[in-house]
Amino acid sequence: MDTKIIRMDEENIDMQTVKMAGNIIKSGGLVAFPTETVYGLGGDALNSSSSKKIYAAKGRPSDNPLIIHIVEMSALSQIVRKIPKAAYQLAEKYWPGPLTMIFEKADCVPLETTGGLNTVAVRMPSNQIAREFIREAGGYVAAPSANRSGRPSPTVAKYVIEDLFGRIDMIIDGGQADIGLESTIIDLTGTSPMILRPGYITEEMLRQVIGDVEADQTIMDDHAAQAPKAPGMKYKHYAPKGNLIIVEGEGRQVSTYINEKLSAFHKEGKRTGVIATDETAAGYLADSVKSAGEQGREEQTAKCLFRILREFDDEGIEIIYAEGFKQKGVGQAVMNRLLKAAGHQVVRLSGENSSM
Ligand code: AMP
Ligand code: MG
Repeated sequence: MDTKIIRMDEENIDMQTVKMAGNIIKSGGLVAFPTETVYGLGGDALNSSSSKKIYAAKGRPSDNPLIIHIVEMSALSQIVRKIPKAAYQLAEKYWPGPLTMIFEKADCVPLETTGGLNTVAVRMPSNQIAREFIREAGGYVAAPSANRSGRPSPTVAKYVIEDLFGRIDMIIDGGQADIGLESTIIDLTGTSPMILRPGYITEEMLRQVIGDVEADQTIMDDHAAQAPKAPGMKYKHYAPKGNLIIVEGEGRQVSTYINEKLSAFHKEGKRTGVIATDETAAGYLADSVKSAGEQGREEQTAKCLFRILREFDDEGIEIIYAEGFKQKGVGQAVMNRLLKAAGHQVVRLSGENSSM
């Protein structure tokens, strides 16, 4: 398939091209587009054959439901059975933005889009290119992240092209994604609201609006007894090609431990990488040391984490050590993604070692 690649600036949107992209969706095709979280792979959410094409292009298991992207509150009432009060309150505060809510689905939403579930995930993005595109596409765009299944989500178009060129009709390159991690997912269909995936909108921010919220036990704990409530969270995710290990402990202790390991791997002829911070990067002896931003600025880490994982792949890095990040604020989402990328391999220097 011939894939058109179009470069566009959020401040200077070419409506002619956006209309063309919208028409591709209306006629059952697929377009990758920028959002404030990560790039999305869009298809017509109300057309079952479009959803099937999304799963095929990504190589995604078909029981892993898609998120429907809308731009108007009036669209929400068309695709869900009822809108709970909490949804209005959350939408008022955080839409458009990086929050996905789960509702009971209306009949017009095909089961192909929801991975066979009777519930549906909905988000209203804030990126202006995304908004114009969704409008031109008819108002209901199903869009998972625009990567091949299992790979880190793309935060720049280069990695969408790498994964999906030749498999979809168009890629809109809108530059670097602002946030860099996928949306927070909150389920509003149970007795109390439950976070299924952490993101930029934190538990605390949700609580400020709707009071008590629960968090799915499986978010940070690999050994939780039950399966994750968001089907997608059970799959291997975000993994770089190299073996990634997280090291937690006090500053000096962490760098000393990692450097010892690195020197052993060097002797074996392995190419090594480290995910560090601005403050610690200079202290590592790896082939490739990347800073994930300033210490304590977890939103900087969120923005660059997936790009760093992809860059290690580009550089043929085989062994990657990452410093652990604080789980406050968006740091919880950062560690959720990093733990998944590492297959939960964590060394805890001050306490017991886990999974090593
Ligand atoms: P992605 O589109 O790659 O960000 O993945 C979407 C995430 O939303 C996956 O983890 C899905 O399992 C989750 N999700 C989508 N729809 C639902 C739903 N109806 N119920 C629970 N989780 C959902
Ligand atoms: Mg994804």
